[in-house]
Amino acid sequence: MNKTDEELSGLVLEIQRMSTEDGPGIRSTVFLKGCPLSCIWCHNPESISPRPQLHWTGSRCIGCRLCIGACRKGVLSFNEGQGVSIARDRCDGCGVCADECPSTALEMLGRNWGVSELAAELAKDRAWFEKSGGGVTLSGGEVTMQTEFSVMLLSELQGAGIHTAIDTCGQCAFAALEKLLPHSDLVLYDIKEIDPEKHKRFTGQDNRRILDNLLLLAEKIRQNGNSTVLWIRTPVIPEATEREDNIKGIGRFIAEHLNGVAVRWELCAFNNLCRDKYSRLGLEWRYAGKSLLSMQDMERIAAWARESGVDAQIVSWSGGTRIDNGTAEIIRPIANAAVKPC
Ligand code: SF4
Ligand code: SF4
Repeated sequence: MNKTDEELSGLVLEIQRMSTEDGPGIRSTVFLKGCPLSCIWCHNPESISPRPQLHWTGSRCIGCRLCIGACRKGVLSFNEGQGVSIARDRCDGCGVCADECPSTALEMLGRNWGVSELAAELAKDRAWFEKSGGGVTLSGGEVTMQTEFSVMLLSELQGAGIHTAIDTCGQCAFAALEKLLPHSDLVLYDIKEIDPEKHKRFTGQDNRRILDNLLLLAEKIRQNGNSTVLWIRTPVIPEATEREDNIKGIGRFIAEHLNGVAVRWELCAFNNLCRDKYSRLGLEWRYAGKSLLSMQDMERIAAWARESGVDAQIVSWSGGTRIDNGTAEIIRPIANAAVKPC
């Protein structure tokens, strides 16, 4: 292990290989832990906490109760019919119980990686990147919550000739984005909601800093001769961001401030594939019963975007959609389908 690894490690939730939704080509997406927002529709609830988290999958549990004795803090209990219960307020994430579990029903979410160790792991997919024009995307959670680690990792990847992208919600000190920018070939930047009050209601924070940071970032990109590519992404969420006034408001903002810098505005259709994640974390999800949007919904919303004053050429949409077929709901995969809406 070299000095950099000893000094810097990052908490990674997951490495998703063969991803096609987080930038061009085939990508390996690194989901970092820790997010400053708490979106009501969040599709990665296990990425919000900046600490490792215990996760129980009931279908794998064989009821041996080894975990109960392993936890010296008395956090776990076992109830017939319900399985293992976790008193999360008392769990310090030590992971001893997960080490004891013979069936991987208990797992710790989040693993520390050294910079060089992770760069080497990601470089194993180099052949896919080269064939497809892909690379590595740092996502989350929120990349700016682990800025120093991310800068080192991106720098090492770029040094190895691998295309780099970051996916950010923009709720951070601008200095963090400024540090990441020179090491990012592509920035995926979310504008979820244009109304500050609604933004606060949906995500826990208003959007003032996010939009201010975006303006500063766009200026930096212009100054750098557009050496970094900027994509804007908007999650299209039922009963929240899917409104005409929101889509057209975001479009006007892009047209007024990001002309010539933002080369793509991607509308990411809501998905409901994360229902089980919530139950495994012992959380309720208000969107658990919600259906996907239909293709007609997404076409209508994309039309609002094109009417907003933005360059219509930069508007696209992605994601699985609903086909109403009697009682069936079918996820229709489409080109560049987003499994994880922004
Ligand atoms: S140790 Fe694992 S398999 Fe055994 S009761 Fe605990 S969670 Fe279930
Ligand atoms: S992670 Fe540690 S504190 Fe939490 S339940 Fe398991 S053994 Fe107990």
